[in-house]
Amino acid sequence: MQVARDAVVLIHYTLKNDAGEVLDSSVGHEPLAYLQGRGGIIAGLEEALEGKVAGDKLLATIPPEKGYGVKDPSLVQQVPRRAFQGDVRAGMQFTASTEAGPRTVVVTRVQGDMVTIDGNHALAGETLHFDVEVTEVRVASEEELAHGHVHGPGGHHHH
Ligand code: ZN
Repeated sequence: MQVARDAVVLIHYTLKNDAGEVLDSSVGHEPLAYLQGRGGIIAGLEEALEGKVAGDKLLATIPPEKGYGVKDPSLVQQVPRRAFQGDVRAGMQFTASTEAGPRTVVVTRVQGDMVTIDGNHALAGETLHFDVEVTEVRVASEEELAHGHVHGPGGHHHH
């Protein structure tokens, strides 16, 4: 069976950035399971996997536009230090409520009374290099299609 819309796909992957640093990997863990064409993984990786079968290995280079997006300068803001309770240091993460819903924001700089925060995804602007092996492709159950995600190993577990 080939990877196509609504197929359940299980992959092992290693993600590297342009510098060759490993950012994430499923190796040594359960493979990642997702439903093709439902936005469960980034668009560029779905495109690269379309038509593949179990056992296929591929290297996919994915530009930011098809990954986690380009950096949005409007999500970088300066706020006064007094807006924070307690200690504020670069690298701290917190959840901010925005018009578009909750968003993870990271403190990128603290200088004097001003704190710079960045609401971009940590991988925004990055070209992503995926080393992927397809381990299984199967038909989704009706329940999985109704939920829009995979159940069982590598997928969602309902309790
Ligand atoms: Zn479910």
